[in-house]
Amino acid sequence: MNSPEILDPALHTLRHTFGYPAFRGEQAAIVGHVQGGGDALVLMPTGGGKSLCYQIPSLLREGCGIVVSPLIALMQDQVQALCQLGVRAAFLNSTLEAAEASAIERRLLAGELDLLYVAPERLLNPRCQGLIESSRIALFAIDEAHCVSQWGHDFRPEYRQLTILHERFPNIPRIALTATADAATRAEIIERLALEEARVFVSSFDRPNIRYTVVEKDNPRKQLLKFIRTHHEGDAGIVYCLSRKKVEETATWLRTEGISALPYHAGLDAAVRADHQTRFVRGDGIVMVATVAFGMGIDKPDVRFVAHLDLPKSLEAYYQETGRAGRDGLPSNAWMAYGLQDMVLQREMIEQSQAPDEVKRVERRKLEALLGYSEAPACRREVLLRYFGEESTPCGNCDMCITPPETFDASLPAQQALSTIYRSGQRYGAAHIIDILMGKSVAKITERGHDKLSTFGIGKALPEAQWNSLLRQFVAQGLLGVNEFGGLMLLDACRPVLRGEATFMAKRVRAAAPKAAASVRREMEFESDEARTLWAALRQCRRDLAEEQNVPAYMIFGDATLK
Ligand code: ADP
Ligand code: MG
Ligand code: ZN
Repeated sequence: MNSPEILDPALHTLRHTFGYPAFRGEQAAIVGHVQGGGDALVLMPTGGGKSLCYQIPSLLREGCGIVVSPLIALMQDQVQALCQLGVRAAFLNSTLEAAEASAIERRLLAGELDLLYVAPERLLNPRCQGLIESSRIALFAIDEAHCVSQWGHDFRPEYRQLTILHERFPNIPRIALTATADAATRAEIIERLALEEARVFVSSFDRPNIRYTVVEKDNPRKQLLKFIRTHHEGDAGIVYCLSRKKVEETATWLRTEGISALPYHAGLDAAVRADHQTRFVRGDGIVMVATVAFGMGIDKPDVRFVAHLDLPKSLEAYYQETGRAGRDGLPSNAWMAYGLQDMVLQREMIEQSQAPDEVKRVERRKLEALLGYSEAPACRREVLLRYFGEESTPCGNCDMCITPPETFDASLPAQQALSTIYRSGQRYGAAHIIDILMGKSVAKITERGHDKLSTFGIGKALPEAQWNSLLRQFVAQGLLGVNEFGGLMLLDACRPVLRGEATFMAKRVRAAAPKAAASVRREMEFESDEARTLWAALRQCRRDLAEEQNVPAYMIFGDATLK
């Protein structure tokens, strides 16, 4: 019998060792290329099946495949799974006793291993380099290759040194794999890992079973609870928050509401973290409330939703984090609550950081892409895929496609808002501008004479939520910028609208739209440059405390106005 698998050893291995009937997407082409000794860069979404792309060539080529992976915690699971399939696999990392490690080294030298997983810092040490020199090596696989990128969210300095693999072992094929695919990261991987000659395999990044939704932040916790109760009662999911404190608070609160929620962040004891992770992966219907410390490499197929209570770091990060939902291909949700204040905070963090200008430029672009997604006037998936260089058509499975937003000609309100910002000196935040438009005679307005502006009270016809949304849309579309203190400023692109030479079509806020939450409104007004500098220093101090010590840090100054 001349079945195709007899002719194709890769297919034979896929079926008989791994038990899958067929390759998916680009897997067959990648396996063939690497098996033949070629270098490859593989860009494939999370859950796409990257592992087989190096596992099968390692089995087919003579010698052992060396897999570099930053995920020490997961090496053991992966190796165990491979051993159960009869693959001779092992790992070398800091969790092993010296005797265990030497036993594995002996197996490598004796040619008794098919696959060896190694932590990057281990691979770089001279002892390990010597071992590799004395053994037969089938290939090097560099998993999670985006860790080489300093712009990325998972930067690992040791990844930078992996070029020595190419320098010292130029004849051993290398395959780098990642689910992060924006053009800048791709270029950086190629450069940093000296993969100029490598063939690049790009899979579609679309995850059609994930429904994307962004809601306007009102009372985010309550909105989250309603989302879970309506769509995901009893389901497993992940809720991402920015700070450890918020993780703890949200998990506790969800539990009091009867949801099986667990916290996960880097400040928890390692044993507690491991326990929570195991319960999430094995258990049914656990909601993991986590910082971004959680999730990379977790292979739980039935995560039904990923929710964000804070803006993610970038669109790549968002794509990766939401990609953890629905690996089994069943309908899943990516849900995010987002408000103007999130955007202002991120902008402030960029502008106030000590990073060099070029870094800030990249970060600003990334933030803009994220805002473009959050404020998308049409299909969100199109925005997401375009960011990864893919053209697509409206998907029918995102909030914008399901309930297209009503738009209206907002040229006049746009002129009113923009001229208010201009006339008040381009240094006040959204809340202050809206108060002027709504004609509120409160102290902070009258003290500055802003009740005398010609636009005072001119915007009463629109609800406050609509003004909030309009200002967000102006920022997302590049008409307005935000300075390092959260003040709104006019950008060149707003001129035609301001002069009445261009129309501005805006999304109408849906009926019963939530009001802006009072607790996140904050006005910064400074009487002198010293006050401004002092305020910036205090904010930096607070962030350092919050980040390094995990101390909840608040600053309260009377009526919250520093004078
Ligand atoms: P990635 O590393 O790209 O996130 P994995 O390699 O962990 O993805 O694979 C994700 C899941 O898909 C795993 O459960 C894996 O067993 C499964 N898988 C991979 N390739 C195939 C295939 N050809 N047929 C069926 N299942 C596959
Ligand atoms: Mg993987
Ligand atoms: Zn859509």
